[in-house]
Amino acid sequence: MTKSYDYDVLVIGAGPGGYHAAIRAAQLGLKVACAEREKVGGVCLNVGCIPTKALLHAGEQIAAARHAADFGLTFGEQRMDIAKLNGWKDGIVKKLTGGVGALFKANKVTHLTGQASFVDDHTVRVGEQTVTAASIIIATGSEPAKLPGLDVDQESIVDSTGALVMPDPVPARMLCIGGGVIGFEFAHVYNNMGSKVKVIEFMPNVVPGADADAVKEFTKAMKKQGIEIAVQTKANKAEKKADGVHVELEDVKTGAKTVEVFDRVLVAVGRRPRTDGLNAEKAGVHVTDRGFIPADTRQRSNVPHIYVVGDVASNPMLAHKAMKEGLVAAEVIAGKPAEQDAVAIPGVVYTSPELAWVGLTEQEARDKGYEVKTGVFPLSASGRAMTLQQTDGFVKMVVEKDTDLLLGVHIVGPHASDLLGEAGLALEMAATASDIALTIHAHPTLGESVLEAAEAVHKQAIHIMNR
Ligand SMILES: Cc1cc2nc3c(=O)[nH]c(=O)nc-3n(C[C@H](O)[C@H](O)[C@H](O)COP(=O)(O)OP(=O)(O)OC[C@H]3O[C@@H](n4cnc5c(N)ncnc54)[C@H](O)[C@@H]3O)c2cc1C
Repeated sequence: MTKSYDYDVLVIGAGPGGYHAAIRAAQLGLKVACAEREKVGGVCLNVGCIPTKALLHAGEQIAAARHAADFGLTFGEQRMDIAKLNGWKDGIVKKLTGGVGALFKANKVTHLTGQASFVDDHTVRVGEQTVTAASIIIATGSEPAKLPGLDVDQESIVDSTGALVMPDPVPARMLCIGGGVIGFEFAHVYNNMGSKVKVIEFMPNVVPGADADAVKEFTKAMKKQGIEIAVQTKANKAEKKADGVHVELEDVKTGAKTVEVFDRVLVAVGRRPRTDGLNAEKAGVHVTDRGFIPADTRQRSNVPHIYVVGDVASNPMLAHKAMKEGLVAAEVIAGKPAEQDAVAIPGVVYTSPELAWVGLTEQEARDKGYEVKTGVFPLSASGRAMTLQQTDGFVKMVVEKDTDLLLGVHIVGPHASDLLGEAGLALEMAATASDIALTIHAHPTLGESVLEAAEAVHKQAIHIMNR
């Protein structure tokens, strides 16, 4: 006799992973509920991808207005209505989260409001109700990691959520602790808004995971814009005083300590998986010491009917990875032959220029035993980049020497994130550099730089000297 449950699928968390899973499961004819204790849309829509991109765009308009003088266009005195800026950003978030709510309704996904905690492996308490489900998808996401000695008050010492609220006036001196994606995106926002920004990073290199040459090109561009970058530097503690936040910085090579004063300090030292209050152990679900709930390639946890997707499952903590995993979990539950087997997951820092990559870095390819060839096309040779006043950056292609097989694409430049679509498809289709070079790209476009990087692999790029 089969047991009957309230739902075929209960999804816990309505972030990118959770709402994708819930909607796809409903599309496949399953009876679905999605439990959320805060707002639908999760981190990405409410306090992550979307609001940061809104602020980045606003900051870039300020910089663009300044650079317009180069071609004879000057505007009046710049005035910033901070309340309006924050309101505009919040409006976008509201529209998009409202959209997710509407999609739930349209797809007949029941939205349950409240904290979800397991009672047993088929039963979950959500707020005041108790529901049962045949399959359960955990999509509880992640939260900012803390730094001892730096207590976040969301005013003068903030995490990424606090940093999204632009203070009035804009802080004169800003410190970003952590030279990862989030640290640099905020550094770029505040720098364009008029703050004097310093980024510190504990490791010898910023943006871990990106190609070393690309990182070099990227940091050169960031420094040119006035952002100060100190690597192998850590923040030990911070003290709030009348004239600002006094932060003790330490050079990790020499141990030398200095105190610097800032008006706002951002702690962006990584994120931790979030399982608080979930009571996963009551369902027999394994949680690692670091708080992750590991999944196999079909997104199953150690309990066969309990699935896990997104930031809580594994790194990289990226929205598009969470979304794909959500779809896989839903499809597996519906009996489809789905699996998470992407060749590559793209990564992007949405600064200007952007730093974007997909596939293997040159070093990773060598470490894996490939003999590699690379091709680089600088944007200084791109007609389109010149017309956009954005010639800092390049496209670098990493290719297997004998087979010409594409292994990775690394881009520093405007709209690099949009150019990754082509590169990702090429990787998934096992394209060679020749396949890309043989494809007619529209002229003049930034996409041509991808073509010319492929030509550069063969020392046949037209718009540069091939050495
Ligand atoms: C500032 C910032 C910028 C970012 N920018 C980008 C970007 O540009 N591109 C990108 O790809 N990624 C970006 N990210 C990362 C991206 O936001 C995450 O990878 C993504 O949100 C993960 O989705 P998720 O569904 O796994 O979890 P989350 O988005 O974290 O959602 C989990 C949801 O579960 C809910 N929840 C948790 N526990 C329970 C419980 N017990 N009961 C009920 N509900 C619960 C939470 O309230 C939350 O809404 C950014 C992150 C930050 C912080």
